[in-house]
Amino acid sequence: MNFTNPFCDLDGDKLREECGIFGVIGAEHAVAVTALGLHALQHRGQEACGIVTYDGKEFYAQRGIGHVASVFEGGDLHHVQPGSMASGHVRYSTTGGAGLRNVQPLFADLASGGFSIAHNGNISNAASLKRELVQRGAIFQSTSDTEVIIHLVATSRYPTLLDRFVDALRMVEGAYSLICMTPDGIIACRDPLGIRPLVMGRLGDAIVFSSESVAFDVIGAEFIRSIEPGELVQVDQQGTISSHRPFGNPKPRPCIFEHVYFSRPDSVMDGRSVYAVRKQIGVELAKESVVAADAVIPVPDSGMPAAIGYAQQSGIPFELGIIRSHYVGRTFIQPSEGARHADVKRKHNANRAIVEGKRIVLIDDSIVRGTTSKKIVEMMRDAGAAEVHFRVASPPTSNSCFYGVDTPERSKLLAATMDTAAMAEFIKADSLAFVSIDGLYRAVGEQNRNNKSPQFCDACFSGEYPTSLTDLAERERHDLLTLPINKVA
Ligand code: AMP
Repeated sequence: MNFTNPFCDLDGDKLREECGIFGVIGAEHAVAVTALGLHALQHRGQEACGIVTYDGKEFYAQRGIGHVASVFEGGDLHHVQPGSMASGHVRYSTTGGAGLRNVQPLFADLASGGFSIAHNGNISNAASLKRELVQRGAIFQSTSDTEVIIHLVATSRYPTLLDRFVDALRMVEGAYSLICMTPDGIIACRDPLGIRPLVMGRLGDAIVFSSESVAFDVIGAEFIRSIEPGELVQVDQQGTISSHRPFGNPKPRPCIFEHVYFSRPDSVMDGRSVYAVRKQIGVELAKESVVAADAVIPVPDSGMPAAIGYAQQSGIPFELGIIRSHYVGRTFIQPSEGARHADVKRKHNANRAIVEGKRIVLIDDSIVRGTTSKKIVEMMRDAGAAEVHFRVASPPTSNSCFYGVDTPERSKLLAATMDTAAMAEFIKADSLAFVSIDGLYRAVGEQNRNNKSPQFCDACFSGEYPTSLTDLAERERHDLLTLPINKVA
């Protein structure tokens, strides 16, 4: 952390994280429920995880680097972390600054008592807020953007914790779904645009919150509803639920990339089945850019639902031409380019019996740097494919995300520097096509993208950011980024 730098980065050159959050109040063994819930959210962050519980007297925190199953393995979790209220977090931050001190939920003793916070999203003015707080004497324990909220709550002059919390959130810009705990209960909220997801459910007498509904399936909870964009739901220790709308009713802009890639296909996101949307993207893709071929082959697992849709719409047989090893994690989640290259090979193998001599259409959800697609195309050619066509179930990813989905800086995004023809040449495909932005919107149930007032945050594709990006604007003014963003709304 360089405090002499007025643009004090929060986490080296990496401000972004991918995360999942879970919370429960009123359960007998809250820690075990939370560990199970986090396990179902593991795809949202594989680097570190943590759980904080409260037993009516004390808060107990346990955090570790690694998967949920290894950090919270076996034994009597409840003995170590008693309590009927808990919240948890899974995290993936890209490279540096990934130490234990940044693992959430963060916890602080405020004047009002203990306060824990688990955050999914990214605060786009965190560095500038942090600079002001540090100048006023705040001492930060972590390099996470989330800690800014704790300091804002701690220094707010409003009388109640809820008012102080809302006061803090009014100063924050960007994306946040939060699960906070105080001795009085749980507060769950979603930013005014609802960029990141958050859902509420019931498990017996307990109320549960999760980034995705799939966690409720796994723990046997009943889905109640999504937390609305801008809504703040409070559940006290008696189980009384109250809903607040401190930000009025701005038009929601949930993240469309949750539907494309990030969420699990068995989740329901803002009323839409993620699987059904992905399959429909494949249908739209086939309508827009069908090609004569012998087999439709998904890039496992992310291209699977779209490939099913593409095959059904085009009438081309669906085949498993690439077999995935399930013992390798997400290839994207590797800090270095070299490690990513090696991992693509370990993770995927060509099914020669299907591929040899065939004209194939590969379907994947997205191209980011182009590492995966290039390797897969090469693998198909090595296995004897006669023609290799590539179809992508999202528009070109040409802009970084500043709201909690990790994308590299713009200069590393293939689509930021190349047109489709150049990308096809780069990945050595016979043809390449992306679903159009309107096709993607049709798949999520809209008629098209309302260009005057888009229904989703699609900044990674359109470059139109729905919030101001204070930190980025400051960094850009100081030429710290190599390729500027397109437009800032
Ligand atoms: P790349 O090899 O850099 O082009 O990455 C593309 C692959 O990474 C795609 O096959 C996606 O399934 C996956 N992917 C895309 N976006 C993300 C993300 N934000 N986090 C993790 N994986 C991603």
